Amino acid sequence: MKTSPNPAQPRPSATSVEPCRALILAALFALFREMTPASVWAGDTATPGERPVFARVDVETDIVNLGIPVYAHLVDAEDHPYVLTIDTPTHLVALKRPYRVIDVDASGQRYFLARDRSHGIISRQALATLPVLHDDGRRLILRHEPGLDTRLSSLGFDLKLVGQAPMVVRALPRERVLESVTPLPAVRDMIGKVTAGRLRSYMTRLSGVTPATVGGLPYRILTRNTASGLPIQKASQYVQEQLKTFGLNVSYQNWSRYGYSGRNVIGEIRGSRTPNQIVLVTAHLDDMPAKGNAPGADDNASGCAAALVAAEIMKRFQFDRTVRFVFFTGEEQGLFGSEAYAARIANQDIIGVFNMDMIAFNTAASRPVLRLHLRPSGNPGHGDDAVLANRFADVVKTYGLSSSIVPVITADGENASDHASFWDQGFAALLAIEDDYNDFNPHYHTLQDTQSQLDMPYFTAFAKASLGTAAHLAGNPSELPARPDFVVNSISLVPSSPFQGSHFTAKVVVKNRGTAAGDAGLLDVWMNRATAAACSTAGNQRQAVGELAPGASKTLIFENLPAGTPGARTFRAFVDSVCATPEGVETNNQGILPYTVR
Ligand SMILES: [Zn+2]
Repeated sequence: MKTSPNPAQPRPSATSVEPCRALILAALFALFREMTPASVWAGDTATPGERPVFARVDVETDIVNLGIPVYAHLVDAEDHPYVLTIDTPTHLVALKRPYRVIDVDASGQRYFLARDRSHGIISRQALATLPVLHDDGRRLILRHEPGLDTRLSSLGFDLKLVGQAPMVVRALPRERVLESVTPLPAVRDMIGKVTAGRLRSYMTRLSGVTPATVGGLPYRILTRNTASGLPIQKASQYVQEQLKTFGLNVSYQNWSRYGYSGRNVIGEIRGSRTPNQIVLVTAHLDDMPAKGNAPGADDNASGCAAALVAAEIMKRFQFDRTVRFVFFTGEEQGLFGSEAYAARIANQDIIGVFNMDMIAFNTAASRPVLRLHLRPSGNPGHGDDAVLANRFADVVKTYGLSSSIVPVITADGENASDHASFWDQGFAALLAIEDDYNDFNPHYHTLQDTQSQLDMPYFTAFAKASLGTAAHLAGNPSELPARPDFVVNSISLVPSSPFQGSHFTAKVVVKNRGTAAGDAGLLDVWMNRATAAACSTAGNQRQAVGELAPGASKTLIFENLPAGTPGARTFRAFVDSVCATPEGVETNNQGILPYTVR
């Protein structure tokens, strides 16, 4: 076993660190040297009532049966694997492994792991004011305190909070066999449907370039910050409504942690043969900066757009296993939304978690590298993560994406995104991200994280391979029989806010977004109906729509609608309102438009 590097020596990677920062690090390391086990805890007898410390233990080998609780399993900038633990000095001494105390009293404490992605952009003054306990060359470790998360993420750190509970260190049961990747026409078909145009249409709406339709009304999502209030509420509602339109089973999960609260959005395609086996496709919806506008195009409208497009395409197919798309909030504050979700599903049979976070930046004309981060090789779960990563690499090769993206598998335990919450529960998971070692988006967490900075061909290929991976993990894809699928595409009123006692006109556009032609039946409209209508409930007016080809739209005009007395109203339209034609998705036939009578 190798011993840990002498912390007082300059690190080989110091060329990538500002000189002043290196001095600060040297000073900190000198401090740690004062706390080496020999100088602080010479004996190995148990001390009654001794307080737990927060410590780094260097473990070059397998971490199974280590005998201490593991709070993180990481690799430092010099490629030395280590674990973070909270335990008594007596236990640490008994381990007979190199260790370093990071905090002498860990009782009741939580710690931020702050991944520095700034590549030297963070100012030395700002760094000098941070209460850093440890720096492994890739990330800083700091004690949790209120408000520190905003300071750190504004500076450009990605955060994970540790200390709440140790990781579940395990390998998944071996009886489960994940099919290898052999080329499937259904997957080729699905991958072919992922286009730059589809991805762009979600990205522009999520990043505020184009208004999104939320609750029937246009809304510009100018920030998705977890603490923004209305904007993140609208953003999560937008995602929920899109998933519902695709025909997924949707739900929210509310969470609350350390003074923050929010909701995750979950959409599910239920498996046809083994629905209790679940594949998770995840992305965080929230973004930075904390104040003002936050377009967050790469971080992480990119991952969300890829997940939405995958959900929309995959819903037209059936799979053996269940596929769940989960959009988290609270990621930038310390992975709070995913921590809550992973805890909720801890007893479910999760096949694997494919987490996408920042998948659209690649410097023009550079090698299109992307990274798949796994747990370190000494972790019993490493092999489970590797299965997921190898499937992705196989998909890239099998479906001809090798000239557009180059996957590099990196088993460094990088835990600065939501997949880490699933590692904590002992699940197979990986982080799929642009080349965060050598070609990372310099605009992230700023107003400049916009779509114009992104590489759309790279992003599109990344999204194609991600969908292909999810489809192969879900297993045995087959296209559902061709069916029509009628939706209310838009509603507009003339005038938009009619005067009391006047009459107004409604224009309703219906569309067949399905794969076969069909009779769209009757379109019923209600001038004021807040709740959904059951099939065959008569509206205030109705018109026959008739036959619609796949992709075809039709506009119907309802005239002379009486405005009545002043007040807030909800206009409702219901296509194929007697539910006569079998559709691919039966639950998305109604649309609403809130309006006001003046
Ligand atoms: Zn992110």
